[in-house]
Amino acid sequence: MDFALPPELGRWQHQVRQFVASELQPHDAAIEETGIVPQTAIAGLRRMGLFGTNTPSAYGGLGLSMLGSCLAIEELAKAHAAFYYLSGVNVHIGSKAIELAGSEALKQRWLPELASGRTIGAYALTEPDAGSDAARLKTIVRRDGPSHYVLNGCKTFITNAPAAGVFTVFATLDPALGTRGICAFAVAADTPGLNVGRAIEMAAGRGVGHAEVTFEDCRVPAACRIGAEGQGFEIAMRCLDAGRTHWGAYCVGAAQQLLELAVERATARETFGRRLREHQGIEWMLADMAAAVHAARLVAYEAAWRYDHGGPGERTRAAAMSKLIGADMVQRVADATLQIFGGAGYSKDLPIERIWRETRVVRILDGTSEMMRRIVARDLFRTAERRNAPL
Ligand SMILES: Cc1cc2nc3c(=O)[nH]c(=O)nc-3n(C[C@H](O)[C@H](O)[C@H](O)COP(=O)(O)OP(=O)(O)OC[C@H]3O[C@@H](n4cnc5c(N)ncnc54)[C@H](O)[C@@H]3O)c2cc1C
Repeated sequence: MDFALPPELGRWQHQVRQFVASELQPHDAAIEETGIVPQTAIAGLRRMGLFGTNTPSAYGGLGLSMLGSCLAIEELAKAHAAFYYLSGVNVHIGSKAIELAGSEALKQRWLPELASGRTIGAYALTEPDAGSDAARLKTIVRRDGPSHYVLNGCKTFITNAPAAGVFTVFATLDPALGTRGICAFAVAADTPGLNVGRAIEMAAGRGVGHAEVTFEDCRVPAACRIGAEGQGFEIAMRCLDAGRTHWGAYCVGAAQQLLELAVERATARETFGRRLREHQGIEWMLADMAAAVHAARLVAYEAAWRYDHGGPGERTRAAAMSKLIGADMVQRVADATLQIFGGAGYSKDLPIERIWRETRVVRILDGTSEMMRRIVARDLFRTAERRNAPL
């Protein structure tokens, strides 16, 4: 087993790191203050290909492996969360359904737009009464003649909805069919009957819009269906495998940034006649943080590798574990960093409290930590049953 990154990925990681430090991080404080992401920074994200890291090059993306994509996300996570919500979310839940199961016409229509960042993609699965239990969604789709469908229903918490040009929408032909009734559609934002509604202000992630989206007799061509009728739930879950793998890497990057800030602070600040880092209580905190980041990084890279090389079961389990471990790890690292900074860490003068708020959401979105445990446990039980099955 080789733990060194292939040289080309090492160069890519270095390139994104430089870009984040020179072109994104300088805007962090202003974004938090104003809620506006500067166009120059968005142009930089586009120039670097960060709206389409993992999108195949035949459709205008960089065509990187999932590991290459995760290395970029790890670096992006060191800047304001708005940058990741805009570009990284486009790469996974914003475009993956079309990439994985869309017709050639849908891919040609949308992927080059999404991968370049000219169009933003949003993923509309969650509803007011269906979050963790997404199979209970109530947005109804009915056939309307041979070549159209009509959508009616309401989605909530949809990231990038106010800016999106295309929505991946999940709806059911009949709630009684459960997952087998769910279909996926690529719906252009200007389709009559699709309305972006109330904006939902979140605890963190200024500069990014999350909103309700409603469908009122929204008529879409049958050619916009992604995959077959009834395949929508499986497609939704495959998108989330990519999303969770990326979020695992995001947690590692954000935690690395916190750790570096904590080491700097513990080196610069003195109490009781010594540098903070010379007090064993602080030294051990830093060591535990470093060990936790390292462990989560290995899990995140393994999940990325399994995404590219593993079967569906392995991919889903590895993605769930990476997000579960990363989300928990980054919150512990953020809390410890804030503690090491003391009052300054809690103040809005420094980025620590912002990163602490930004990373809290990883335990919720793209499936909560409880749902990640459910996936892992069910896989465990299936494995045990297979082991005990009579030959
Ligand atoms: C910032 C943000 C951005 C988001 N972006 C999007 C997006 O772009 N697209 C989209 O479709 N959705 C999005 N979501 C929605 C997100 O995916 C859901 O919030 C999430 O799946 C949880 O659903 P819920 O909020 O309805 O919680 P619920 O499903 O109501 O769950 C509430 C709590 O109960 C727990 N729980 C539920 N069932 C069980 C069980 N069986 N065992 C143990 N615990 C359980 C959950 O883990 C959770 O802690 C976003 C959410 C946020 C906060």
